[in-house]
Amino acid sequence: APGLYIVATPIGNLSDLSPRAADILARADLLAVEDSRVTARLLHHIGARRPMLPYHDHNADRVRPDLIARMTAEAVALVSDAGTPLISDPGYKLVRDAHAAGIAVTTIPGPCAAIAALTLAGLPTDRFFYLGFLPTKAKARADAIAEVAAVRATLVLYEAGPRLAATLAALGAGLGDREAAVAREISKKFEECVTGTLGQLAERYAEQPPKGELVIVVAPPGAAAPPSADDADAALAEALTRLP
Ligand code: SAM
Repeated sequence: APGLYIVATPIGNLSDLSPRAADILARADLLAVEDSRVTARLLHHIGARRPMLPYHDHNADRVRPDLIARMTAEAVALVSDAGTPLISDPGYKLVRDAHAAGIAVTTIPGPCAAIAALTLAGLPTDRFFYLGFLPTKAKARADAIAEVAAVRATLVLYEAGPRLAATLAALGAGLGDREAAVAREISKKFEECVTGTLGQLAERYAEQPPKGELVIVVAPPGAAAPPSADDADAALAEALTRLP
């Protein structure tokens, strides 16, 4: 049927492509892709060939109206190089404009590195806060970390190997030496999940920057951390307003 299909693809192991995702990829009229070489490999794996149109940060604004117009008569599938589209990848404006144009939007859920890392880390999963990639400049990165220091949730971040140690150290400086995990090469041959405090992990990876792709998971602020005097005053004032 015509419309927009959001298709999750493997983050390493090609067997993680769901039968439904393979079916949509093989039958869509058009694939909107990040990198046609990467998606061509996936299509080859399932023995399919489909027309592809690049859709990435640099051309998205220009090609979006045409893509939306085509969805009224054609099935257009959005795929990223790996994982779930829209999660630190392009796509949300396409979905927004599809809704506005009355086009049917269907998702084919599947692999997502952030969620897979949460399942490996052994840290609380009842509340988590996804940060994507932090800014690379030190000041902007420290500000972004300070902004989430009080959030009572597990934090999930994407990072590149060469920057891992510096980012772990910055997280430790801004959040305190919390428990954390680095999940690397998920679903690939050298998958591993290393746990420790932010300080321990920063030290470990400073010696040798890791290869491959990775996700950082950081524990919520300690439940035992005493509230500051200001917090206590605010809580008391708030409680007083409820007294009859
Ligand atoms: N949309 C993707 C998803 O659903 O996870 C994420 C795209 S983002 C541009 C790429 C980042 O995801 C990598 O830099 C890395 O942090 C993380 N990532 C992707 N594949 C991974 C894997 N197999 N193991 C660990 N992290 C991975």
